[in-house]
Amino acid sequence: MTNTATFNQLESQVRSYCRSFPVVFDKAEGSWLTDEDGKRYLDFFAGAGVLNYGHNNPRMKEALIAYLNGNGIVHSLDLFTVAKRNFLERFNEVILQPRELDYRVQFPGPTGTNAVESAVKLARKVTGRESVIAFTNAFHGMTLGALALSGNQFKRAGAGVPLGNATPMPFAGYLGEGGDTLAYLESVLDDTGSGVDKPAAIVLETVQAEGGINVASNEWLQRLAKIARAHDVLLIVDDIQVGCGRTGPFFSFEEAGIKPDMVTLSKSLSGYGLPLAVVLIRPELDQWEPGEHNGTFRGHNPAFVTGTSALEYWRDDTLQKDTLRKADTVAEHLGKIAKQHEEITEVRGRGLIQGLAFNVEDAANKISAAAFERGLVVETAGAGDDVLKLLPPLTTSDEDLEKGLGIIAESVAEVLARRNAA
Ligand code: PLP
Repeated sequence: MTNTATFNQLESQVRSYCRSFPVVFDKAEGSWLTDEDGKRYLDFFAGAGVLNYGHNNPRMKEALIAYLNGNGIVHSLDLFTVAKRNFLERFNEVILQPRELDYRVQFPGPTGTNAVESAVKLARKVTGRESVIAFTNAFHGMTLGALALSGNQFKRAGAGVPLGNATPMPFAGYLGEGGDTLAYLESVLDDTGSGVDKPAAIVLETVQAEGGINVASNEWLQRLAKIARAHDVLLIVDDIQVGCGRTGPFFSFEEAGIKPDMVTLSKSLSGYGLPLAVVLIRPELDQWEPGEHNGTFRGHNPAFVTGTSALEYWRDDTLQKDTLRKADTVAEHLGKIAKQHEEITEVRGRGLIQGLAFNVEDAANKISAAAFERGLVVETAGAGDDVLKLLPPLTTSDEDLEKGLGIIAESVAEVLARRNAA
């Protein structure tokens, strides 16, 4: 019997995901979670993008246990450590150099939001400008600076103070078919009468994850990069959720061939679920004074160890090809489901972040709940929770992928049939 009494009694009301999946999880391996009663759940949520390589990935676990058994240093503020050196060298060798990316690596606090705070602080410092352009339906984190760049009204309201120095612009597709979002952005940047201050930076997700799986095309990204350059505005790609291979390549912007001025990464960077974040900074922009963005947990050594091991996946293109192949399977299944239900308006996504958008209220939440009953963890996204969002570990087997997609098809059919019968 699920016993959640302790949490109800002692844990803050702010808890959230546990309300959608109200069992007590105990163990996890690969794409599977097990609750304390021994019931197994297939995980198509993957810690909101943290577990791209699955739970308790054996290779990373082995490296971590060996490190801990050898009394490897765990906490070191930002002192030099062997684990940090290994991570930096491997990251440079496997990720940056092959992509001809020249970045300095900043370790901010270990959360995504801290990486975003760092990036925009640095952009403001370097340019001497205050405002930052972000996009409709963006999500960049819950601390005040990052929240100011996020669209969700409910989350913004939690700030309790005005969220300033951020200018929202329409993301790709926001103005509907034929609406030219970038023409609008360009015109306000060009026009000294627009009332939009010249920004320090433009911050974006190439695929807006929390915001409802809104995908920017390569052409849109290329045009945006051109506009930023033409206006001497820094381009910051927040690859916290859709980086580390989620869309296929390591960085989500690779296919577009753009080179952002800064990139934020976190979530799956440590590979194992340990907290780790970086800001990648074009060398000329690395104008921080020592300690100007400080923090106690900047660079956690166990996360360096597992993160270094995770980079082994990027020595060749096996994972990337596999992700894209699995993405085709997901798209095909979701396409079939969408054809059967007029309540589904769109199949969205890129790589292994895909989803179904619904035109009826609460359908996605009910389908998530119905899927959970059947042993699948899958979340919703979008300001109105109108998108069922699939985020399986990239390492999910073909068999498990098919199994999860089957559960989704059944859950969609059940919920929509119930609704139509009511
Ligand atoms: N940026 C993006 C794109 C995210 O998806 C998230 C979290 O979902 C964040 C930033 C914030 O990361 P964190 O929750 O680790 O602060």
